[in-house]
Amino acid sequence: MAKKKPIDWRLVPAPESKDHVRIDPQYELFVGGKWQKPKSGTYFDTINPANEQRLARIAEAGEADVDAAVKAARKAYDTVWSRMPAAERAKYIYRIARLLQEKAREFAVIESMDGGKAIRESRDVDVPLAAAHFFYYAGWADKLNYAFPGKSVSPLGVAGQVIPWNFPLLMAAWKLAPALACGNTVVLKPAETTPLTALKLAELLQEAELPDGVVNVVTGAGATGAAVVDHPDVNKVAFTGSTGVGKLIQRATAGSGKKLTLELGGKAANIIFADAPIDQAVEGIINGIYFNQGHVCCAGSRLLVEESVHDEVVRKLKHRMRSLVVGDPLDKNTDIGAINSKEQLVTITKYLKAGVADGAELYQPACDLPAKGYWCRPTLFLDVAQSARIAEEEIFGPVLAVQTFRTVDEAIQKANNTPYGLSAGVWTDKGSKIFNLTSKLRAGVIWANTYNKFDPTSPFGGYKESGYGREGGVHGLGAYLNLN
Ligand code: NAP
Ligand code: MG
Repeated sequence: MAKKKPIDWRLVPAPESKDHVRIDPQYELFVGGKWQKPKSGTYFDTINPANEQRLARIAEAGEADVDAAVKAARKAYDTVWSRMPAAERAKYIYRIARLLQEKAREFAVIESMDGGKAIRESRDVDVPLAAAHFFYYAGWADKLNYAFPGKSVSPLGVAGQVIPWNFPLLMAAWKLAPALACGNTVVLKPAETTPLTALKLAELLQEAELPDGVVNVVTGAGATGAAVVDHPDVNKVAFTGSTGVGKLIQRATAGSGKKLTLELGGKAANIIFADAPIDQAVEGIINGIYFNQGHVCCAGSRLLVEESVHDEVVRKLKHRMRSLVVGDPLDKNTDIGAINSKEQLVTITKYLKAGVADGAELYQPACDLPAKGYWCRPTLFLDVAQSARIAEEEIFGPVLAVQTFRTVDEAIQKANNTPYGLSAGVWTDKGSKIFNLTSKLRAGVIWANTYNKFDPTSPFGGYKESGYGREGGVHGLGAYLNLN
């Protein structure tokens, strides 16, 4: 009898179409409502990290360009935006939200091409949440007095906003929506590796007929960000990025009178108790660290598991990891897309070596990786010592460090044993344990029996070296207002 051919369980490729997407060969700076060439004439490439091909040439803004952007923002602030009735401002912000929904597919595809994230994420998370932020803050624009009863509120002026590459459009929305709702004007600096959706958003703002200069987009690298932060006519600096750069910015703005919010790194612990619904927890852990290639500040990069269920949790995690699809970000089946840049892949690889050198046991499922582009298999480290670098430092990649605990106090002590304090997760059947832990964990956001859930109504931000100030919700308004 002929032997039966083994069944091929691999998924058939299901790539999202790129036909509806327009990416120009070259982008200029968006200053005063117009596309302006950089004064130095310098451009850099933004590439697709999944195939290393250039997507577009991007203008690099120098100090003179940043100065022109701040002047345009100041003029728009003085002559138009701060004088406009708040209900009118709200209409523009609603219009931005609506246009973003209309163009959601194009934004999602460009986000995945420029940054490497799986289309499932950009389509279902980044773009809808970005639109939701504009809707939410549009609603607040003419109700600011109700947000802060007994206080008189006024806008700050010109906001300089510098954002990272892991959620390029969403971070732009988090920054722009509250700033505009409160009556400020903006100079926005997207990350060097992911400028495209911010530039597409600038096109959208033109279509929304937002008055010239209310939002200016200056592309470039760190020096451009520093020029925005250091500009003397900026009244407020909002930064999301690494703790290292956050500290530089804190120093640069000290004594300047500029209002500052910092959203920095994280090293979150997901804590699983023996009484947790284990299958659900495993799915949450997977989502918490492998989602978006682990390029998530609040990623659950440490797993603290109660000793009695350690073996079961690890067995189930490994099983689930074997079914994760790594590859083409535009494929709708993909769970883990490309690492954002060559530099970030070098950083992650360095930590994989450090984990092994520090004595942890490495597990990666066997899976084929594309020949070109930057990729990292989902990685699990077992038996991680508290002193290991992979337990202490932010990796910003799909790498999970597993440790065990025996008592609630030990779990709390280990979870808090980090210079960061952005987020944490608790998995248990007992409400009392949830309340106990949430009051003792030093983290800005704590999820219980879920992970990585975001909503514009909910404030987000860190303790300790994860930064200060809150974005989102009513709290997010306070960061863009004088309250007297
Ligand atoms: P990064 O290197 O700090 O960069 C963030 C932004 O700052 C980029 O636009 C960057 O420009 C710019 N920049 C670099 N040096 C600067 C300087 N001296 N002055 C002003 N701006 C400067 O961070 P990243 O590597 O892009 O992003 C990853 C980090 O962001 C992680 O640590 C992550 O945890 C954190 N993050 C935090 C949150 C949060 O909400 N807490 C959210 C997302 C990410 P380039 O274009 O040259 O990079
Ligand atoms: Mg890119």
